[in-house]
Amino acid sequence: MVLPIHVYGDPVLRERTRPVTANSPELQQLLDDMLETMHAASGIGLAAPQVGRRERVFVVDLTPMKEELEAEGEILPPMPMFFINPEILWTSNTRCSMEEGCLSIPEIREVVERPEAVRIRYLDRQFQPQELEAHGMLARVIQHEYDHLEGVLFIDRISAFRRQLLKRRLREIARGQVSAEYPLALSRV
Ligand code: ZN
Repeated sequence: MVLPIHVYGDPVLRERTRPVTANSPELQQLLDDMLETMHAASGIGLAAPQVGRRERVFVVDLTPMKEELEAEGEILPPMPMFFINPEILWTSNTRCSMEEGCLSIPEIREVVERPEAVRIRYLDRQFQPQELEAHGMLARVIQHEYDHLEGVLFIDRISAFRRQLLKRRLREIARGQVSAEYPLALSRV
């Protein structure tokens, strides 16, 4: 089922998530719904708070850019990927800048600097412990989605100057003056 996506200004995006304690049909349903919602919105990553949930989970699917990334030498695990109770164990000292967007902040794209690589421990969809070292685009998406589980948004990681330039537009979005080609949960309209 495609779920509406919660938008900047909604308190759920600023709350910390809660670790999942057990696998369950409800959890599997949530993961299915999140994947379907992300695909419907043409996204490559989606975290539970974006669909108004508090579980510590996110999904990633880089399939749409797989060929392009592999041509650039990036090695990708099978997609889609499900990250349950993820924990970032290590980040590289090497940092890089990349443009990011967010399904919860429609229309806005900004360059964000982050570590180039991360090591992450998580449970997969079958509740099996996994550890992964990610680079490039995968590392980028993982860090963006992981931030969502901590109540952090990518616009928190841009310069104060850039944020100032976006201030008015963000205020409008928070008031619900926003539209997208996918269903939004606008609490304040
Ligand atoms: Zn996002």
